[in-house]
Amino acid sequence: MDKKQDYRPMWTELGLDLEGHDGLLKVFGDSYSEVYLHQENRPGAMEYFDFVVSECHGLRIKELMDAKDEGRKVIGTFCVYVPEEIILALGGISVGLCAGAEIGMEKAEEYLPRNLCALIKSFMGFELAGVCPYFKACDIVIGETTCDGKKKAYELLEDIKEIYVMELPQKKEEEDRVLWKAEVLKFAEVCERVTGRKITPENLKEAIKTVNDRRRAQLRLRGARRASPTPISGRDALLVNQIAFYDNPVRFTGSVNKLCDELESRAEGKESANGNGAPRVVVSGCPMALPNWKLPFIVESSGADIVAEESCVGERGFRALVDESGETLDEMIDNLVDRYLTIDCACFTPNLERVEHILETAKEFGVDGVIHYTISCCTPYMVEEKKVDEALSAEGIPLLKIETDYSQGDIGQLQTRVDAFVEMLKARHS
Ligand code: SF4
Ligand code: SF4
Repeated sequence: MDKKQDYRPMWTELGLDLEGHDGLLKVFGDSYSEVYLHQENRPGAMEYFDFVVSECHGLRIKELMDAKDEGRKVIGTFCVYVPEEIILALGGISVGLCAGAEIGMEKAEEYLPRNLCALIKSFMGFELAGVCPYFKACDIVIGETTCDGKKKAYELLEDIKEIYVMELPQKKEEEDRVLWKAEVLKFAEVCERVTGRKITPENLKEAIKTVNDRRRAQLRLRGARRASPTPISGRDALLVNQIAFYDNPVRFTGSVNKLCDELESRAEGKESANGNGAPRVVVSGCPMALPNWKLPFIVESSGADIVAEESCVGERGFRALVDESGETLDEMIDNLVDRYLTIDCACFTPNLERVEHILETAKEFGVDGVIHYTISCCTPYMVEEKKVDEALSAEGIPLLKIETDYSQGDIGQLQTRVDAFVEMLKARHS
């Protein structure tokens, strides 16, 4: 990336509300400084990710605009079910549009009920308040029929941007796979129309490899966190996985691998990010979109180490790779279809794979407890929590259930509950 410059002309051209956008950048910067920059003993390679965050509305947007000037298209997504490989194969740039801050909520609530999940209200709020340069830069936005709140919100977003909604099956039987394959093919046609290019076996093969390489780097980061003590804080690892949705995939992969070199050597030297002997926890549940750092900050301030995230902004998003052995377009599309159907979102029924995966992760990482995180009003994850609770109790693994939104009003109460949970884990630990 180049050096810092004045982006206000670019933001004006994009149609951002500059005053609202200044307010957003101030809140974002203050929060980043408090949550991230005050950590002691951070890995040096986090410097790249600090830089990306500091320029996420600047240089990265300029890169998108420059790419658009060269005829490439920017395609926004809200869910890890959208096959990014197809966008990349066509020279497009995929950007995640999920939002994790309480911005533009009043605007959003003019359109949406108050009792809707904060993630949906937040992305609608960012878009309606005119403070999201990614949304403005998009040539098309891809929705999906995962939960009811999202699919109905897309109907409203359609008034301000072209939206294409992929239909997701609710189950994973053979007939659901047939539906999903048809949806992936229709999505490919839409992307071909928008980009004016054609998918070929060559460009799709390369795109599959690029996205798999990024997943392999994220898996390597996941592996480094198995070490005890953990060589990186949970919030830093979360940040890396949040940035994966925006950054150039090749540059991101290189930076994650560089971070992993450092973490692996830290692990060999038993160098800890947060202090030796802290209880280890997995956070499982709803995705934490940038800049949602509220719960990880509270948990790590309580003296626990978050060592894994069972979430779409975490291993649910990168755990499975696409089989790279396909040679024909049809084989590659089949491999994409199969890979994406392994994602165990609570929107599916039944969804026992997810419960089994939480248990496996808890055992693999030698955790002392699990924190189940749900965004208020997220029915799929809130209901699925019962099965998670039963499975963990049967194995004697303590569980803390946290339901919250993006507001700051419940921080004190959450801190008290998390402190009590961490104290209980420490007592079991000793
Ligand atoms: S939680 Fe479900 S709906 Fe949300 S990003 Fe993940 S797969 Fe998509
Ligand atoms: S967090 Fe839950 S309610 Fe919100 S968008 Fe995701 S699945 Fe839907």
